[in-house]
Amino acid sequence: MNSKENNELYSAFKASQPEFAKIRHDLHQIPEIKFKEVKTAAYIAGYLRDIGYTVQTDFGGTTGIVALLDSGKPGKTVAIRADMDALPICEKNTIEYKSQHEGMMHACGHDGHMATVLMAAKVLGQNTDKFQGRVKFIFQPAEEGGAGAKVLIEAGVLENPKVDAIFGYHNMPIPKGDVVTRLGPLLASSDSFEIQIQGKGGHAAWPHLTHNPIIDGANIIQNLLTLISQKNPTDAALINIGAFHAGTVNNVVPDTAVLLGTLRTVSPTTRESLKQKITAIVENCCNSVDSKGTIKFSEVGYPSTVNAQKGVDIVLKSAREIVAPEKVYLLEHPVIGSEDFSFYLEKIPGCFFFVGIGHNKPSPHAPDYNFDDDILPTAAYVLTSSAIAFLNEK
Ligand SMILES: [Zn+2]
Ligand SMILES: [Zn+2]
Repeated sequence: MNSKENNELYSAFKASQPEFAKIRHDLHQIPEIKFKEVKTAAYIAGYLRDIGYTVQTDFGGTTGIVALLDSGKPGKTVAIRADMDALPICEKNTIEYKSQHEGMMHACGHDGHMATVLMAAKVLGQNTDKFQGRVKFIFQPAEEGGAGAKVLIEAGVLENPKVDAIFGYHNMPIPKGDVVTRLGPLLASSDSFEIQIQGKGGHAAWPHLTHNPIIDGANIIQNLLTLISQKNPTDAALINIGAFHAGTVNNVVPDTAVLLGTLRTVSPTTRESLKQKITAIVENCCNSVDSKGTIKFSEVGYPSTVNAQKGVDIVLKSAREIVAPEKVYLLEHPVIGSEDFSFYLEKIPGCFFFVGIGHNKPSPHAPDYNFDDDILPTAAYVLTSSAIAFLNEK
């Protein structure tokens, strides 16, 4: 596209902003958690059909939705992805389009991501003369801990037609409208784990006849903190223990203790090595006849989200077509959050990026967080222009 066409495309997005802000508010009111995005999926499928798409629903036996836009000219296929799920959080906002589902909330802005990709589907559908090949729109369930991306990939979302590259984004509490990404790891891997300690319960006055699993748990935590303090400080990694359950009263030694934790790393080698070391610590801290410790890592840990050069170059160029140069940049360090978009980038090239919703705002996952509708045109433009650039590349 030339700069006149870029401006026309961006103007189309800006003109449709009120319609998609309304759509975002509709979706905000019906938040649903992982793999249960039934009303959400019906809403998306209904909208896509209304604007002329043939829609694949229940993709791979999930609530996932896939729609294909064909330019009618031979070429590659590029995918644009939105995540669909909300979180089990009670909304504290007093907005008129507040969550109508008690205890559930779009606290990560996936309502905004869906509205963005619907906006891209509508505007791109009116501009099929601008590109060759096909665009596959993927509405993916269960980003929040359910590895929905992995499930859809296993169900064939990157086949028929075969997807050559994929683009996606997440909103971020950074200056509004900033478009940022990173070459290499952008986001960390994430593995949750559960440690079970079997001790020997009994009367607190006879410790020699018992084995207190709380002490083993405390030793494990101490050793995990030591492990983190001894690793290469330039290679980011963290371990958090988020829950420690044991005992009920003061004068009883409990039988068991349970610790729940998360491991985040940037390098795959560090991820594997720390998993092994954590397992060894659990076993070593609970190796007496009266105590046994076991650790189970979640079956679907998220790998780190790694961008390759070409996808990053395309996103930066697309963003600079409409955003001031100082507001488009590469991050120096990876963000220690995680994303199941990583599963797509393990299979095919592409790029994941962030769009700022303004700093000093409640961060994603806070009960008073809210997506900012102002960024819809920017995010939709960067996704769309990146897709077109990839498809039209010689
Ligand atoms: Zn989230
Ligand atoms: Zn999210």
